[in-house]
Amino acid sequence: RAKSEGRNLYRFFEPGMDATVQARRALEADLDTALPRQEFDLDFQPIMNIESGEIVGAEALMRWHSPTRGTVAPDNFIAVAEETGLIVPLGEWALRKACATAASWPPGLRIAVNVSAVQLKSGGFARSVISALAFSGVPASRLELEITETVLMDESETVLKTLRQLRGLGIRIALDDFGTGYSSLGYLRRFPVDKIKIDRSFIRDIDNRDTAAIVRTIIGLGAELGITVTAEGVETEMQLDMLRDNGCVEAQGYLIGVPSKAADIQRLLQLRALHSQAG
Ligand code: C2E
Ligand code: MG
Ligand code: MG
Ligand code: MG
Repeated sequence: RAKSEGRNLYRFFEPGMDATVQARRALEADLDTALPRQEFDLDFQPIMNIESGEIVGAEALMRWHSPTRGTVAPDNFIAVAEETGLIVPLGEWALRKACATAASWPPGLRIAVNVSAVQLKSGGFARSVISALAFSGVPASRLELEITETVLMDESETVLKTLRQLRGLGIRIALDDFGTGYSSLGYLRRFPVDKIKIDRSFIRDIDNRDTAAIVRTIIGLGAELGITVTAEGVETEMQLDMLRDNGCVEAQGYLIGVPSKAADIQRLLQLRALHSQAG
């Protein structure tokens, strides 16, 4: 019964779905030409060491400036790029661009780049990372790759091998949006990671007692495991105080700095570096 009902529903909604499919095709087509037309760009958001107050690096965040659609947020195109496979060349572009940008930052500052599961599974990923580093002259120790738990979900041998190889080179692996997946703790046990980024939904809700307890526990877990803990989405002094009081290592969010153009972040980083040299 449910099945035939489903079929009827499907037939009923078919015209509407058609429009959805058409919109989707149009998006795919636009995305497809966007890379050669150089419509993509990277913004950079600073990451701060909470104890010292110093900026320790920045995360590259992709932007699509479409001539017809305006600026499209990654949440509205990354998933499609993953399904069409465009994410592989697009991700490689981001990696190269991010490394090239970070090459002119003061020494020691890290560059974090988001990596999709599709890239990691696509074979040749390690090679493209090594090439991006070599081309830019950025040492491996300054590169951080942010992966989400979906990357680890299917535990493919390629992904494991690639992650080990990259860590072997001195690249850091960060687990992004930590706490939102199906098996956050399981992944921590099976995969060697250098950093966890507490998802911003926890930080937003940090004045809730239970959420605060979870955040404190994640911070403690990181300390026990020797993993750097970064809080995402820090927007208020109160949130930062709570994180500092509990020994969270790094913070990222609008309070510290919004995602900014490469030139602006460069200026900020250089200014900070001068300050810290002056003592
Ligand atoms: P993410 O890696 O977790 O990046 C953090 C997101 O939180 C960014 O959204 C950032 O702009 C936003 N954010 C930072 N601080 C705050 C804050 O204080 N409050 C709030 N409300 N938001 C804050 P964005 O730039 O829209 O990116 C969304 C997601 O798209 C990223 O989440 C990442 O998963 C993905 N993404 C971005 N760039 C790339 C890329 O180059 N490759 C891949 N594969 N994914 C990317
Ligand atoms: Mg990220
Ligand atoms: Mg995140
Ligand atoms: Mg995210």
